[in-house]
Amino acid sequence: MKLSLVVPCYNEEGNVERLFQEVKNTFKENIDYEIVFVNDGSMDKTAQELKKLHNNNENIQVISFSRNFGKEAAMYAGLKESKGELVCVIDADLQQHPEEVVKMIEILDNNQDIDCVTAYQKKRREGRLMSAVKSCFYKLINKISDVKFVNGASDFRIMRRCMVEAVLSMTEYHRFSKGIFNWVGFNTEYMPYEARERKTGRSKWSVKKLIKYALEGMVSFSTKPLRFATYVGFISSLASIIYLVVVVIQKTLYGIDVPGYATIVVLVLLLGGLQLFCLGVLGEYLAKMYIQVKNRPVYIVKEHLKNEE
Ligand code: UDP
Ligand code: MG
Repeated sequence: MKLSLVVPCYNEEGNVERLFQEVKNTFKENIDYEIVFVNDGSMDKTAQELKKLHNNNENIQVISFSRNFGKEAAMYAGLKESKGELVCVIDADLQQHPEEVVKMIEILDNNQDIDCVTAYQKKRREGRLMSAVKSCFYKLINKISDVKFVNGASDFRIMRRCMVEAVLSMTEYHRFSKGIFNWVGFNTEYMPYEARERKTGRSKWSVKKLIKYALEGMVSFSTKPLRFATYVGFISSLASIIYLVVVVIQKTLYGIDVPGYATIVVLVLLLGGLQLFCLGVLGEYLAKMYIQVKNRPVYIVKEHLKNEE
């Protein structure tokens, strides 16, 4: 089989059938493909829609989770069950058109050295403020992390089998795919595309979720924040030694009284704050380790509708 399309779906009842039709109309008979839908614990009628699609078509797999495990887990499950030589991750909401997949396949077919084509949004759909915040996030994470993150690069990408296997070999619980895809290496080509409006339903992203996601990325792919405490400790110790010398000289040579209350309050608050911050950073890593050592599965499958071999 040439291509597997992996489609994570969470409350996408109005989109899955449409996506299927668009894929069918775009690929026609030219490409031998399958679609792996992952129903990530949808609360609407997505499950029924997917079952219908599976019953009426041969090239459809449906993996249903026992609850919502998140898009990262859904992608992981989809990649695991995919059989194609090429695997493409695409959203269910039709923001990414199957036409783009055809372009990606062409790039791979014309250049055997490339293992992965990643689509990035040249022009973001969101407002200026959000774009600026996201740019800052990318600058920061690229500074502190060893793997390279490309601003605007999405999960919408196509990979050769060798890269899929590499991604699957990373079994960590906290899956930050943007990092994982880069960490495994391979030659990636970036292709600009324009995301369209969501057909129906709502985006699952909120500002709160984005902040959580950003922190998750930093903790998952960098240990530099842990070193922050060392630097702060070193600098404040150095500063206090210098200040000590200054105070002693002021008192003994010039008889100047050292102003007390304000300085002490500010310093206590500042250092207390820094200590709590460092403790928090430590806690973030500890929490991740705690969950990881429990070794729980990334997702739990309730039902897997396969296509006959
Ligand atoms: N998704 C998922 N599980 C979740 C959240 C989202 O499988 O917990 C799927 C969703 O159905 C969609 C894709 O991930 O196919 C992208 O989600 P969304 O459209 O909300 O993100 P956006 O396009 O706004 O970045
Ligand atoms: Mg979307």
